[in-house]
Amino acid sequence: MDSVVTMPNLSVDGDRLWQSLMETACFGGTPKGGIKRLTLTEEDRAVRDWLVRQCEALGCRTDIDEVGNMFFTRPGTEPTLEPIAIGSHLDTQPTGGKFDGILGVLAGLEILRCLDASGYETRHPLMLVNWTNEEGSRFSPAMLGSGVHAGVFDRAYADARQATDGTSFGDALDAIGYRGKAQAGSIRMAAMLELHIEQGPVLERRGKDIGIVEGVQSMRWYDLVITGVEAHAGSTPMDARLDALVMAAEIVLLVERIARSHASSMGTVGCLEVHPNSRNVIPGQISMTVDLRHPEDDELDAMEATLRQKIHACFDERLTCSLTEIWRSPAVKFDVSCIDAVASGAAAAGYSSLRLHSGAGHDSAYIARVAPTAMIFIPCRDGLSHNEAESSTREQCQAGAQTLLNAVLRLDTHL
Ligand SMILES: [Zn+2]
Repeated sequence: MDSVVTMPNLSVDGDRLWQSLMETACFGGTPKGGIKRLTLTEEDRAVRDWLVRQCEALGCRTDIDEVGNMFFTRPGTEPTLEPIAIGSHLDTQPTGGKFDGILGVLAGLEILRCLDASGYETRHPLMLVNWTNEEGSRFSPAMLGSGVHAGVFDRAYADARQATDGTSFGDALDAIGYRGKAQAGSIRMAAMLELHIEQGPVLERRGKDIGIVEGVQSMRWYDLVITGVEAHAGSTPMDARLDALVMAAEIVLLVERIARSHASSMGTVGCLEVHPNSRNVIPGQISMTVDLRHPEDDELDAMEATLRQKIHACFDERLTCSLTEIWRSPAVKFDVSCIDAVASGAAAAGYSSLRLHSGAGHDSAYIARVAPTAMIFIPCRDGLSHNEAESSTREQCQAGAQTLLNAVLRLDTHL
């Protein structure tokens, strides 16, 4: 198909990438080997300063936008073309690991270094990106910087987000000196690719090197309140009870059954509050949550319809159940040509791969609204993430970065 285009044979340096991962892990490093680098803290400032130094040493131009998103551009041979962006986030959870987000930024840096060392010139400019506040741990919601870039939130909304200590996002951004001049969203990109650890066990279980991420699954959150009648546990016969907890147990199992009966879906009851939560009182009221996920919106519609129908069938006017949807995030479909670039990038390097959907949110989910986007996953040990023990090997990181480089070069010749 594209055999007339000769792809350059460039290899990332796995040792240099690993060295950068270990070096930056010191900014906020924890005794247990993880990282605590909450967004817009001194640790975040220090790693941002480090990244500026590395990119400027390669001759890249630095742009910072008004919510602190960082863009480092290496020129291409055709200046009228928009840049191909690569990147992720450098902030972590309070007990985060060394790879979540960071790998995607440092693999991008490794690609810039590799191109610099070889003297290879791309047609498009290449742009390394660090998105602000992906984690949403200090300032909710998550993916705030990429969300502002994509027009999901505006700058004023971002500035007003408050940490639990009362500090606002805007004040914290000013305090670390990373309020840039570029208007959010004004920096254009021809495409965006993000390398990330999977944060789940599928690649490891299936023995695959690379995940070709086709999108982010559709997610919905519901609150349920079940109301029965509190009564004495010793003197109310079993056939005279309106026990809200027994009905809640039915719903927990129902959610499990619904999720298991739709391939690739997930269903979770994560919270359950029992009232009055007393040993010898039949529970009168239960508040609970349901989280449903599926790669396709219409499949999730069907799951929700089953849930509502069964609930309707189980309850009457004496024992009631209200189900309220409180949040939804529609399915994200990544760009076909970006997905193909990732697939051929993995194949060209001889890596085994698997097509999958992301179970977690990522900056790329918002960027996909404004630019062709795709993601690459690598395995992480035991699927563990948001944990100080989070771990991928040097070889796995190298495979991800090489796939990313191959995909970037392919997009550069095709876009
Ligand atoms: Zn992440």
